[in-house]
Amino acid sequence: MNISEEFDTITAISTPFGNGGVGVIRISGDKAFDIIEKIFTNCKFEPHRFNHGWITDDSVKIDEVLVLPFFAPNSYTGENVIEIQCHGGVNVVRNILNLVLKNGARMAEKGEFTKRAFLNKRMDLSQAEAVADIIHSKTSEFAKLSVKNLSGSLREKTNEIKNEIFEVLSKILAGIDFPEDVKEPEYDYLTEKFEDIIAQIDKVLASANASNILRQGIAVSIVGKPNVGKSSLFNTLLNLDRAIVTDIAGTTRDVLKETLDLGVPVTLIDTAGIRKEGENKVEEIGIEYSKQSLNEADLIIFVCDVAQGINDDDLAILELIKDKKYIIAANKADIVNSSQRNLEQQLLKLQSNENKLSCTYISALTGEGIEDLRKILTSKVCEIEPDMLEYVTNVRQQACLSKTRAALEQALIASKLRELQDLISIDVKSALLALDELTGELITDDILDNIFEHFCIGK
Ligand code: GDP
Repeated sequence: MNISEEFDTITAISTPFGNGGVGVIRISGDKAFDIIEKIFTNCKFEPHRFNHGWITDDSVKIDEVLVLPFFAPNSYTGENVIEIQCHGGVNVVRNILNLVLKNGARMAEKGEFTKRAFLNKRMDLSQAEAVADIIHSKTSEFAKLSVKNLSGSLREKTNEIKNEIFEVLSKILAGIDFPEDVKEPEYDYLTEKFEDIIAQIDKVLASANASNILRQGIAVSIVGKPNVGKSSLFNTLLNLDRAIVTDIAGTTRDVLKETLDLGVPVTLIDTAGIRKEGENKVEEIGIEYSKQSLNEADLIIFVCDVAQGINDDDLAILELIKDKKYIIAANKADIVNSSQRNLEQQLLKLQSNENKLSCTYISALTGEGIEDLRKILTSKVCEIEPDMLEYVTNVRQQACLSKTRAALEQALIASKLRELQDLISIDVKSALLALDELTGELITDDILDNIFEHFCIGK
């Protein structure tokens, strides 16, 4: 795909592959109406109003459908667009797609509809990227946050920053170009302005880490000795029966992974019980895997059995994870009384260091304490409240913002040193260019292709 490529008419199935109630085929481009007129029985179109009729191939009926027309520029792509809603069987959708292709459209590439929307200025790049984020979001929270960008929250903020930089640059250039008529701006004004704009960029970048965590998710590993209730906890947290739960030690032999939505997508990993030596080969492999999964984990839930108390094996595991972020879940709290909930004291006595470790008492069997554990997990996992996140950014956008920031930092140093404003203007211009990259006003084919490659066909 090339930015300068002439826009031909493209088509794709916009609904997921498989059988469903409804299937949608989308056509976008100059020939969209010509094509539909060749294959549809009811072509008196009014903008945004459904027409009911039949898709036919040489008068052979293919399916009974609804057709929704959009006239350029009032469509998703900014071009003429036709959406055909047909019955959702794999083959009927495919038959219609083939018919559209036969009549002059070409198969759309990944994200090509959205790419056209961007190139036709229906949205800026941050909004186009938000479309991909919404489609691929692993949690409902992230989908909601991405909608903020679709509605232009990041675009507005970047434009605000850009206007401010532009204003400063105009003043500097006016002073340089018309020294007789316009006084060059005061250095104090420049310093103050640069500091202020850098602070605004920092505010957007402050949520960069949180954005990345929300987008990619984190891995949480459940570890502990055999039989302390790791699999039971895994199931309880996920509300499923996937892991095998038995009272024979060493029954979880491979590593199980499932995704849990805690606002942040969490890959929950149930590991085989960590013991010094497995009783057989398979179990040993499981134990090896669990040690590896410790390395991959961003956070660990260390499960111990409150009824048995803490022993050397538990301490050995604690030693293994001591440099990691972890939570202690004291399981089987249902079979002990409140005076036996004293793991903290036991740990304090047994451990050589003075750190007091806090435990959460749970029962994977009865569900006691599980909600609290979820809350602790969420707070540890995010160290951010998703609703407090003002701007969602991706790595590309963060890099552009950092470039802008670095250029402004140079301009700030130069203005503090009262260097020639001609020189300062060079850094200010680079700051603007980096922002143009963010919004997509200055972008290469390669970067664009890379962005839209991550879309699905039909979007
Ligand atoms: P794992 O080897 O650490 O994965 O342990 P499992 O989840 O397989 O559990 C081992 C045994 O402990 C099973 O018989 C479970 O039913 C039992 N168990 C797990 N959690 C609890 C709990 O909270 N309370 C009680 N009473 N038993 C539990």
